[in-house]
Amino acid sequence: MRVGIGHDTHRLAAGGPLRLGGVDIPHDHHLVGHSDADVLLHAVTDALLGAAALGDIGQLFPDTDPAHQDRDSAEMLDAAVDRVHQAGYRVVNVDCIVFAQRPKLSSYKEALQRRIAELVRVTESDVGVKAKTGEGLGDIGREQAIAAQCVALIGKD
Ligand code: MG
Repeated sequence: MRVGIGHDTHRLAAGGPLRLGGVDIPHDHHLVGHSDADVLLHAVTDALLGAAALGDIGQLFPDTDPAHQDRDSAEMLDAAVDRVHQAGYRVVNVDCIVFAQRPKLSSYKEALQRRIAELVRVTESDVGVKAKTGEGLGDIGREQAIAAQCVALIGKD
């Protein structure tokens, strides 16, 4: 068994929808980045790569490479899961926290769990998704950014 941790932050800009956890959530802002800026999938990807000591998302998919411009983060996570499997591991479970002042994510948690489970090839009961606001404080609270954290456990086949 090995554990990994992932963290990411992306800036918000006006105009929806919000791509988060591989799901397009209706919102008046979206995340900005070189890829599709899916902060939650980036945190999951880094947690899995970290658990297998396979580097990080920036090494695998450099943002200096035009091939990764506007890239679907689900593809990057899928490729990272391939690498984890090639190293002889399977994902046991992941647990995530999204830090967002808005939108309220409670009604999307099941959809996020389902999509992340599909991408990391586990069952929904092996995916935790929690959401926290910034209590109006800092970059999160002022709705300038959304951040995400993920812990992942992987095990040998
Ligand atoms: Mg990122």
